[in-house]
Parts: sequence; structure tokens; C-alpha cells
Amino acid sequence: MKTKRTIRNCPLPVFRQVCPKTWESLTPTDQASVRHCAQCDQNVYLCSTDKETLGHARAGHCVAREIPDSSELPAMYVGQPTYVPPHTAEQDEALRLTHRERGINDALKNLRAIRSCPRCHYPSPSWRTDCRVCGCWMGRMSQGDGTKLDVPAD
Ligand SMILES: [Zn+2]
Repeated sequence: MKTKRTIRNCPLPVFRQVCPKTWESLTPTDQASVRHCAQCDQNVYLCSTDKETLGHARAGHCVAREIPDSSELPAMYVGQPTYVPPHTAEQDEALRLTHRERGINDALKNLRAIRSCPRCHYPSPSWRTDCRVCGCWMGRMSQGDGTKLDVPAD
């Protein structure tokens, strides 16, 4: 699958969401998984696991992760096409991975959240009932004391 490495958790306020730079545009260092961003004057850590991602993000580091290239996703049809080809298994996998990476982007904005998903360990705000990354049901919590308002069925 064709992927691109995008920068997450960039502290520069103008890039509050996702740094528009790509991994390839950063300066290599003596470590293959670390590059330097001249714009932020920060090291960026290429992460392949969720544990690495959370560790670096919690340390306040910029992280880079791989996300499927948009050319891997199914085509978008507008209007009333006479025939829409079914998604291939590869396109469905690219869609699933893209959705998960967007969930991780969202989770990294909630690093100060009072709870984390019990399955994937990414932070999640108290108002969300299911994990944006893995879909695990967590129930909603009240804002103040962390009391669960509705509890998972199992
Ligand atoms: Zn999760």
C-alpha cells in the first residue's frame, strides 16, 4: 500500500492540527527514525506502534506516522452514476487505516484527558462514549469527578 508519513502533535500554534510538512521534507539525523524540522527547530520521531506514538506525544515530541496515500482510497462519486464499482479489499483496508489515523490525530489533541481507552490506551475526552481510535465502548463520564454516567453493557 502506498503511504505517506505525516507529522502529528506539532507544538507550533499555527499548525494546531497537523503539521503540513512531510517526513521527506525534514532533515535526516544520525538515527533513521528521527528527523529535524527546521521550521519548529524540533526533532520529529517516526512512530510505527501506538506505544511509541503515545510515549513521544506525552513527552511533548512531534511524531510522524504513516497514513495511506489518498490514491489508495476508493474514488468519490458525485451525482447519479450509472455504475459504481465495489470497493476492493485493499481500498477497504486503506479506508480503515485512514479512519484510524484520523482518530489518532484527534486523540493526540486530548493528551490531558482524564481517561484513556482500556483497549488501545489513547486518551479520550470524558464526553465521548466510544474510542475514536479503536471503537471500544467506554461510556460517558461526568466532567468533574470522573464518575461514569453510563456503563458499558458487558
Ligand atoms: Zn481505543
